[in-house]
Amino acid sequence: MTTISTTIAGSLPKPAWLAQTERLWPEWQLAGEALDEAKRDATELALAEQDRAGIDVVTDGEQSRRHFVHGFLESLEGIDFTKIVRKGIRADRYQADLPTITGPVRRTRPVHVAEARFARGLTRRKLKVTIPGPMTIVDTLHDAYYGSREKAAFAFAEVIRAEIEELAAAGVDVVQLDEPAFNVYFQELEEWGVAAVDASVRGVACSTAVHVCYGYGIQANLDWKASLGAEWDQYAIVLPFLAQSAIDEIAIELAGSRVPPEVLAHTGDKRVAVGVIDVTSDAIESPEDVAATLAVALRYVPAQRLVASTNCGMAPMKRSIAAGKLEALGRGARLVPA
Ligand code: ZN
Repeated sequence: MTTISTTIAGSLPKPAWLAQTERLWPEWQLAGEALDEAKRDATELALAEQDRAGIDVVTDGEQSRRHFVHGFLESLEGIDFTKIVRKGIRADRYQADLPTITGPVRRTRPVHVAEARFARGLTRRKLKVTIPGPMTIVDTLHDAYYGSREKAAFAFAEVIRAEIEELAAAGVDVVQLDEPAFNVYFQELEEWGVAAVDASVRGVACSTAVHVCYGYGIQANLDWKASLGAEWDQYAIVLPFLAQSAIDEIAIELAGSRVPPEVLAHTGDKRVAVGVIDVTSDAIESPEDVAATLAVALRYVPAQRLVASTNCGMAPMKRSIAAGKLEALGRGARLVPA
């Protein structure tokens, strides 16, 4: 019997010997070659954990990056990490220390390709790599060069496209662009956000996805969510645009959130990775909980287009809880025939 396919949004918690735990911007515990080795060891563990849980499309758990946006930007030219500006991001939802764009953004060397190649060598499962999307990148930087978020986004789209091409050549099956900013800036989404995503994936040789979510379980996000009312209707605006985009898969959250499941009907003919694991709660779902959330999703998306996933990354969680949730995801999806 075939069952619903599984994946994770991207990140898993890092072991305490690699980085500070339960933080969004953790410091590394090591440096130099010892750090590189520890990242590889943590990647092996992350892949083994997903393998044990029976996850079909796996990631390296983002064990080699400090943060999902800045980890991608650190090796680009045109961004000064010594010029830090404290600013409100995601429409002022929270304050963050942002590096500054000081010149034309260029990718002079691969960013995540070596990590992807290492992970590729360790698993026969389908491999997914996550990259921040253009709008989310622009929203997580201070710009002192382009003078236009749109212009900057399309510059990043070129950088992203070059990276995806190399990732695909390294054997990566799926590249997912993380665009939490899409849930915040609807006018920009319509004007240039989706076009910048399309420019990022133009002509690439692997499958592509976009992940739009309500974020990690950090306090600022919890406060924001509490302000959104009884029904979160952001996806009703976002999904029809994504349904018209060039990407293959839309990854969104559903479990334990106030997202009305009817919005899933707006996904066109895209593959839909639905979050069946709540990352803002430490309560570990049972496999039956997972199957029940999938049953709700199946009312709007046929099994062939449905993928079971986590709502968002699990980076800031306790390791033992993330492991329990991963196991529930695998077991729960296997209860649901595809
Ligand atoms: Zn997310």
